[in-house]
Parts: sequence; structure tokens; C-alpha cells
Amino acid sequence: MSDMNAATVTRYRDDFLKEVEANVEEGDWVKMCMQCGVCSGSCPLGPHWEHPPQELFMMIRANKREEVLSSASMWYCTSCYNCLVRCPREVPITHIMHGLAHYAERLGLAPKELPTRKFSKIFWKNLSSSGHANETSLALKLYFMNGFGEGIKKAIEMLPVGLGMLRAKRMNPFGLFAHKGCTDKKGLNAILDKAREIELAKAAKYQA
Ligand code: SF4
Ligand code: SF4
Repeated sequence: MSDMNAATVTRYRDDFLKEVEANVEEGDWVKMCMQCGVCSGSCPLGPHWEHPPQELFMMIRANKREEVLSSASMWYCTSCYNCLVRCPREVPITHIMHGLAHYAERLGLAPKELPTRKFSKIFWKNLSSSGHANETSLALKLYFMNGFGEGIKKAIEMLPVGLGMLRAKRMNPFGLFAHKGCTDKKGLNAILDKAREIELAKAAKYQA
């Protein structure tokens, strides 16, 4: 368990809605859900959810902490925003999905082997290290995220796509080495450090 101490979690266990409101991005909107199901019906991943959004929101209110935070569901949100634009209560569903995934990750409760979790971690590391995504490095890391053999297989499979992108000048063959990132990396790190500080202070304030 990282960033959160055991005492905090013990205290929260009795009231998961309050815990979500205090720690999850836009979590204070969860109580606005009226269970109409429009979000789940609008979601392109609808048939594949273990728990569609409105069910997750009901589970939060029903104090089903472990089931929600260890669920794979919020990790499958593709940020298409279909649900968000259609919700009659204007609940920021997309943000809550990602907020729940992030919070589960902070607590060490996210399912470890989920491909979407692995993707998120690789993408965030790639982006936050320089301020701009290095697409070549990102693609290579994603190919090899499940081991060397699978990476080679994937790279061979994708070779025609890569060659097509090179021909169309949509990929820089020297991208791996030519990547510079943003000009003010120090400033970027200061922003990220501040964001982490605010996040921790928010959790601490709730404990007081
Ligand atoms: S569309 Fe909005 S109000 Fe309806 S179930 Fe989904 S989150 Fe709740
Ligand atoms: S934003 Fe996420 S939860 Fe909403 S409809 Fe799209 S995939 Fe589904």
C-alpha cells in the first residue's frame, strides 16, 4: 500500500462514499447518479463491463470497497465521453472512472496483470519523463510489455503498418533518438510535484 497509511484505510472502510468523495477525481458527483442506466447503455464497451458505471456508483454507495477498487472495470474506459455527454445529471463519469483506477493504483489494489493498467503505466512514464510522448519508444515498450518473445512476434506482425507509416512520412525512423521533450523539464517536474503534494494534502485534510 503506497501513499496511504493503514489507519486511514481502516477509518474509511466504514464509509466508502466519503472516501471516494475525498480522494477520487470528481468523486463528489457519485451521489448525483440516479441509476437511469443511460451511461451504461451508451458505452461502446457496454457488453464487456464486469460492472458498468452506474453499477460501480451503486456499489460505492453500498460500501462495497474491495469489490470496486479491485475491479478491472474502470480500467477499460476508453475516454470516448459518450456517457458524459448523455448523462441527464451531467455526472463526469469518464473522470470518475479514471479517478477510481488511479486511486486503486495508489492503494495497491488494482489488478496487476491487466493490459490496460500496464499500458497506462508505460504511457504515463513515457509522457511525464519529458513532457511529450516519444511515440517510437512508447510503441516498442508496448510491444515488449509481455516479454521478449511476444514483443518480437508483435513487431513482425506490425511491420507492414510501420513501413506504411514510414512511406507516408507519419513516423520518424530516428524518433527514438531525436526525441527532445518539452523545453522546461524542470518546470514540468515542479508542476507534477505540486500536483502530488495537493493530492496528499487533500487526503490528509480529510483525515483531520
Ligand atoms: S447516466 Fe448519469 S444518472 Fe444515469 S446511471 Fe449513468 S451516471 Fe447515473
Ligand atoms: S467514456 Fe468510458 S465509461 Fe463512458 S462511454 Fe466511453 S468508454 Fe464507456
